[in-house]
Amino acid sequence: MTTQNLENYWMPFTANRQFKAKPRLVVGADGMYFKLEDGRQMLDGIAGLWCCNAGHNRPRIVEAIRQQAGELDYAPAFQMGHPKQFELAERLANLMPGDLNKIFFTNSGSESVETALKMAIAYHRVRGEGHRTRLIGREKGYHGVNFGGTSVGGMPANRKMFGSLVNGVDHIRHTHGVAGNTFSKGQPENGAELADDLIRLIELHDASTIAAVIVEPLAGSAGVLLPPKGYLERLRSICDQHGILLIFDEVITGFGRLGAPFATNFFGVEPDLVTTAKGLANGVIPMGAVFAQDKIYDAFMHGPDNMVEFFHGYTFSGNPMACAAAMGTLDTYEEEGLLTRAAELSDYWQDAVHSLRDLDHVIDLRNLGLIAGIELRPREGAPTARAFDAFLQAYDAGLLIRTTGDTIALSPPLIIEKEHIDFAFETLRKIIQSLD
Ligand code: PMP
Repeated sequence: MTTQNLENYWMPFTANRQFKAKPRLVVGADGMYFKLEDGRQMLDGIAGLWCCNAGHNRPRIVEAIRQQAGELDYAPAFQMGHPKQFELAERLANLMPGDLNKIFFTNSGSESVETALKMAIAYHRVRGEGHRTRLIGREKGYHGVNFGGTSVGGMPANRKMFGSLVNGVDHIRHTHGVAGNTFSKGQPENGAELADDLIRLIELHDASTIAAVIVEPLAGSAGVLLPPKGYLERLRSICDQHGILLIFDEVITGFGRLGAPFATNFFGVEPDLVTTAKGLANGVIPMGAVFAQDKIYDAFMHGPDNMVEFFHGYTFSGNPMACAAAMGTLDTYEEEGLLTRAAELSDYWQDAVHSLRDLDHVIDLRNLGLIAGIELRPREGAPTARAFDAFLQAYDAGLLIRTTGDTIALSPPLIIEKEHIDFAFETLRKIIQSLD
């Protein structure tokens, strides 16, 4: 057990009181495993926090960072550049389909979301449609923790401490719990018509006031909620009819999670803007990126003379160290075929996920690519959800999972092997069986 003083660090998204009574510290990581303070190994079932898609301690990334640190540690981000930013942007544009060729660098998913929301509003403004300022999110959505992202987000616990948030925001309904969808393998059949909720908001507010709609193509943090078949296509078509920009928040689905580089490739629906972070630099150095369609960038290029610039950016946008880490990450993804590996393993993964179906507490199983949600029956009146008890037991059993409400989420590094999948689901079966 740790002898360190734990009092000064205020931990994010953590009940500090509970954690500090029984801390869990990792001290090393390699491949599929974390190393704990007591020397035990823990299989990483959630890629750190949905981000270490290439696994841990990857040589290409370590070397890229080492070299970069000795060569160019920082370059001023505004009115100056360095070659790796441009090279990385070109590589990223080549991974993304269609017109999403313009890349704006940030340092996190939350910053990517703020950037995309502001880009959408500014895009309309430079084109003379400054009345389009309203932003539409979705219930149960998670778009990071800054004010814009919290406002378009739809997880009540993340909103309720923070007052009225940004005004001019509304939400369409989520797609969870549609009748007939439980235990679907892959995308569920029912619920595409929930996209028409956007029409309800267009009628309420008038399309001419709406700048953009933001959704996670597959919602991660709310419990791995998959889009019903046809749903994303329908959102796209409504947005097109009404001049509204569609933003996909791909902070989790980006970089191979579904078996294609992005959900945008996987679902074959092209939004106007895509937000990413996490897997971009494998979680090693903070980095995010917004992908914008050419038409959005071009609007600024050809806009009025007093609006040629997008007045937004970060001191660390396109930081050389982050760019080097991202290049090392892309090298690793490409050399090892990791951006499509989830597709190769997805049948095996699906069988493993659905092998838990007979367990009493399991009320739904959801899977796609290499991601899964295991929803447990809520425990009435008890202080903790069954899923959180499962998390604590899994930690003791050497498996890292993530939980949100009553759902266990799995999103392992894409270097996972079948024997790791077997271990994870055998361990979870025993744990779920033992829960009261
Ligand atoms: N958007 C989505 C869809 C996410 O899943 C997350 C993080 N889980 C974020 C945004 C925020 O990313 P960050 O924590 O890097 O700010």
